[in-house]
Amino acid sequence: MSVPDKATSSRKAVGIDLGTTFCAIAHIDAYGKPQIIPNSESERITPSVILFDGTNAIVGTLAKQNAVAEPEKIVDFVKREMGKSKAQFHREFNGKIYSAEELSALIIKKLKNDAERYLGEPVTDAVITVPAYFNDAERTATLHAGQLAGLNVLQVINEPTAAALAYGLDKLDSDQTVFVFDLGGGTFDVTIMKIENHHIRMMASNGDHRLGGKDWDDIIVNWVADEFDKIHGENPLLDLQSYQDLYNRALTAKIQLSSRTRTTIVHSYNGKSVKLDLTRDEYENRCRHLLEKCKTICEIVMQEAGLQWSQIDRILLTGGMTRMPSVRDMIKAISNVPVADDVSPDEAVAIGAAVQGVLSLLSEEDKLGERVLPQEVRDQFSSEDGSLIKVTNITTHTLGVVLWDDGKVEEYVFPMIRKMTPVPVETKNSFGTAKANMKNAIVRVVEGESTVPGECTPLGICDIELPPFLPKGSPVELTYSYNENQVLEVIVDAYGRQNRVQIARNTGLSDSEIETATADLLQIKVV
Ligand code: AMP
Repeated sequence: MSVPDKATSSRKAVGIDLGTTFCAIAHIDAYGKPQIIPNSESERITPSVILFDGTNAIVGTLAKQNAVAEPEKIVDFVKREMGKSKAQFHREFNGKIYSAEELSALIIKKLKNDAERYLGEPVTDAVITVPAYFNDAERTATLHAGQLAGLNVLQVINEPTAAALAYGLDKLDSDQTVFVFDLGGGTFDVTIMKIENHHIRMMASNGDHRLGGKDWDDIIVNWVADEFDKIHGENPLLDLQSYQDLYNRALTAKIQLSSRTRTTIVHSYNGKSVKLDLTRDEYENRCRHLLEKCKTICEIVMQEAGLQWSQIDRILLTGGMTRMPSVRDMIKAISNVPVADDVSPDEAVAIGAAVQGVLSLLSEEDKLGERVLPQEVRDQFSSEDGSLIKVTNITTHTLGVVLWDDGKVEEYVFPMIRKMTPVPVETKNSFGTAKANMKNAIVRVVEGESTVPGECTPLGICDIELPPFLPKGSPVELTYSYNENQVLEVIVDAYGRQNRVQIARNTGLSDSEIETATADLLQIKVV
């Protein structure tokens, strides 16, 4: 997180919803009203698709339209790869290897460039959203993507928190509990938020970041491919071009079935073709298991929050997939709670992020003791006593440390910060060294709900050298500090020595790597 060093007057903050399939960008106008910023194609959302064309990166609809003609030059669904190291995921174009955060940076650059053109001023700062269920590495990668695109990232916030901010902005005087159901192109997130006394507080959250619209698309793709194979004895998915073509047809069919009860899919490959009818009922049957997964996650989050559906006042639907009738019917059937109809599923998250951006700038104004944003803007985001709207998030994973259990003679995970703890948070604990004469205290930081180290995800290591000849059980103090962006800092203290490590896991680009990558990305023209 770069600390802003510029005066607030020369800054313009935007909110960015960096979606798996679509992105949106919003700002707060001079009257304090949130507005979506259209892209240079005059669209309110931009497909998260990149087409590499020589030294140009074409982002958005044009790239998406070319997916069939030039599938080898296309990158999509990058969000699903965020947090992976270059070794785990990369794409190569023109001899350059791109990581997931660099690819995302190109998408953000397109949004930034178009916003600057539209607003007629430079965009300096941004709040970027992530699924609540994103872990540390995925959040850090998102933060870096924003920085690589040349933005000062004020905060990385949860998508459901942003949706609740967008929804709650004009309802802050009426206390209510809202259930945010966010089913996007690639991720599913459910979160319970409480709006109380101008304070928006996250109560519980769960999700599956590999469940989204793409899984519904794949059902049609695989069904058509199977039918094609049965009729012609050939698999049309083996050819990249044919796959992209079928994928686009499946997407269109899925969207049609949200407003029509039947559709027809035609697919041709290698001079052969199929023409298949699909009814909404049949499609819903084929996708039943996906909806069941969503239902189970909704029930789990209600249990985690210790709430009954009767205690929920509103359901907020975000993510394009919530336009699907079966998704709406399922949530209505299990909850019997009214759905808020004044939020746009595609725009609420970006708008909420823009609100958070202005809140961050306003609180910086307060810290610096200077007022540059118009009073109308401040009024929109303050309660009657003049205090700013407050937003509190919670942790969505337990952060622990691996310790040695002498009794059981095995390692176990001690939870330092438990899941569902409000952030920012700092916890301290003192532990004894496992053996006499230990040369180093090595803290292994893990994330997960199990006490078995092998069942948790390793996040990183923080170690210090110890003085010689210490007896077994000598105290080592450990501090976990989790900031508002849900990025973890671990501090180990013993005998006047200290080591402080920001856990950035395998994505961890160093400051110099960010600088180099930013310079590299400047060579690419983003259109
Ligand atoms: P998001 O990432 O929130 O933009 O969600 C996009 C997902 O919603 C993609 O999988 C789209 O195919 C899907 N989607 C958008 N509109 C509709 C619709 N009318 N019916 C069904 N799915 C839709």
